[in-house]
Amino acid sequence: MKIIGELNCIGLCLSLSDFAPYIGLLIVVSIALLAAKQMRARPKNRLFTFVSAQVVALLAILATFYIMQCSEMLTVYLYSSYVVISTILIFGVLRFYDRILVRRLDAKPVDGIMDWVQEFVDALTSASVYYYDSAVPKAFAAGRSIFVSVGLLEALDDDELKAVLAHEAWHIRNNSRTPFLKQLSGYG
Ligand SMILES: [Zn+2]
Repeated sequence: MKIIGELNCIGLCLSLSDFAPYIGLLIVVSIALLAAKQMRARPKNRLFTFVSAQVVALLAILATFYIMQCSEMLTVYLYSSYVVISTILIFGVLRFYDRILVRRLDAKPVDGIMDWVQEFVDALTSASVYYYDSAVPKAFAAGRSIFVSVGLLEALDDDELKAVLAHEAWHIRNNSRTPFLKQLSGYG
C-alpha cells in the first residue's frame, strides 16, 4: 500500500533528522496539555490550556512537514487525521460532559425531592434537572442537564428558584448555537 511506503519514508526522514527528539517532545507536551485541561478549575485556564495544546500539536505537524523531504502528502494525511481525531474527542467529551458531571458530583434527579422543578423546566426546554450535595448556592447548565446545589434549593423560595431555572433553561436552548470554544471553556 502506498501509505505504508509513505510511513516508512517519514520514519526514515525522522530518524535521519536532528529534529526528531524535539518533535517527539512537542507531541508529549501537547498530550500532557490536553490531559491537564481536565484538571484546570477555572474556565479561562481550561480554554487557555486547550488552545496551547492545539498550538503545540500544530507545531509538531509543521515541524514534521518542514524536515520531511520524502512526501508532502503524508503531512496532509497526518494533519487531517489529527483534525478528525481531536474533533471527535472534543465533541464526544462535550456530548457526555453532563453524564460525567452527574457521576462526579454524585447528582440525583430533582424530581425525587421536588416534582414541580422538573415539570417547570420541561415546559421550557428538554433538560434533566439534578441536585447535588453542596452548601454553596450554585446552578449551572451542561449538555442537556441543569445542576442545582442543595444550598441553592434551601436558600431560594419557589419564585426565585423559577427565575434561576428559567435562566439555565435559556442556556440549554442556546447551547446548540453557542460557539463551541465557549462551551468547551464551560461558560454558562
Ligand atoms: Zn448564566
